[in-house]
Amino acid sequence: MKPKFEKPREGQWIGNESTSLNFSVPPNPIIGFIEGDGVGPDLWSASRPVFDAVVEKAYVGDRKISWLKIYAGEESFRQFGSYFPEESFDLITKCRIAIKGPLTTPVGGGFRSLNVTLRRKLDLYACLRPVKYVAGTPSPMIRPQDVDMVVFRENTEDVYAGIEWKSGSDLALKMINFLETEMNVKLPMDAGIGVKPMSPFATKRLVRMAMKFAIDNGRNRVTLIHKGNIMKYTEGAFRDWGYELVREEFGDVALFEGELERNHVGKIPDGKILVNDRIADAMFQQALLRPKEYSVLAMPNLNGDYMSDALAAQVGGLGMAPGANIGDSCAVFEATHGSAPKYAGLDKVNPGSMLLSGAMMFRRMGWNEAADLVERGLSGTIQSGVVTYDLARLLPGSIEVSCSGFAKAIIDWIKKE
Ligand code: NAD
Repeated sequence: MKPKFEKPREGQWIGNESTSLNFSVPPNPIIGFIEGDGVGPDLWSASRPVFDAVVEKAYVGDRKISWLKIYAGEESFRQFGSYFPEESFDLITKCRIAIKGPLTTPVGGGFRSLNVTLRRKLDLYACLRPVKYVAGTPSPMIRPQDVDMVVFRENTEDVYAGIEWKSGSDLALKMINFLETEMNVKLPMDAGIGVKPMSPFATKRLVRMAMKFAIDNGRNRVTLIHKGNIMKYTEGAFRDWGYELVREEFGDVALFEGELERNHVGKIPDGKILVNDRIADAMFQQALLRPKEYSVLAMPNLNGDYMSDALAAQVGGLGMAPGANIGDSCAVFEATHGSAPKYAGLDKVNPGSMLLSGAMMFRRMGWNEAADLVERGLSGTIQSGVVTYDLARLLPGSIEVSCSGFAKAIIDWIKKE
């Protein structure tokens, strides 16, 4: 059976007249949502009322979202025999903006990650993760407020491209033989094989997005992160293509590290952006020791995955880290943590990541007042000592509430403000 989708009775599709993401959003847009697996439904039923409440408070009836359910994951498999029906991809494309909960992926076998499939199929080539401290959140850092970075992670290439063959399989053996006979590379015959493709096209469009973001948001540092000392023709090339793009398209605003010391005594002049690069392992240290020196970070897929979780830990963990997958004509906002199956259906986990992803979504729509309210409501509620279990165990004297209880406390806070 195929899923049937009906246009909600109210609401308009967003910007179908243009293929670019620079659309204008109607006052009653149709926005897609995927509940997700595991804790996804708990998160969604807590977060959706918060999103509706902030829009109502900010625009008093002048704006309203018409939510459209889109099927994916285990619920979709149970009902339609497909984890990600073709119709769901079509619908996300039509909505242009969607928000999703986490989707479960089996480790070491089974089907391919639905998240990776979604990103590749809709060409959502950048994973955008802002990492900023929400006041009141417990953090392992002495000064978590010094962390204010935005990660641009390449989403379509690298070892995540899914080009791999199992140890002992015919195709792995074929590859090993080919490498030995044609390329003079000798590998153990029982090796599993993975391929790491990285191209100038995908690198440059990611770095272009990061540079434009920096310009549009008044950020004056963009750092390319790579492991180019070891993987010269992939990670090293990422760095070289990144600088090439910056010189080709942003030569008027870009400033490079040598020039900064030589010509500007270490101070970035107004209107200029310092573009530098760091080797990934060193960057993990820098993020802890000198967070104030970093603002926009652009990196390949695997580095980006590690780096964004590590940065999220600095500001209080994955429960508070928002994210978005962005292409040229479509954007999917998502909680960055996984489906936490052991908490599924317990109404227990922290909806903060989903809520902050919603705030990001509102900003992308130009609904900044709604975004501000989500952020203030979340921070205000945490500072009042009302938190979910993950923060409660780090905040002595706090009051632990459920996932939906936390959302309700945020709505009460927003109504009172
Ligand atoms: P996970 O993020 O689901 O959970 C790890 C632990 O983090 C949980 O046990 C819990 O203690 C904590 N946690 C996660 N979310 C939380 C929240 N909102 N509030 C409080 N605590 C929270 O990671 P995992 O166990 O490695 O992955 C589970 C599944 O999720 C896997 O199938 C994985 O592939 C999938 N996954 C999906 C996405 C996505 O959809 N974008 C991302 C990561 C992992």
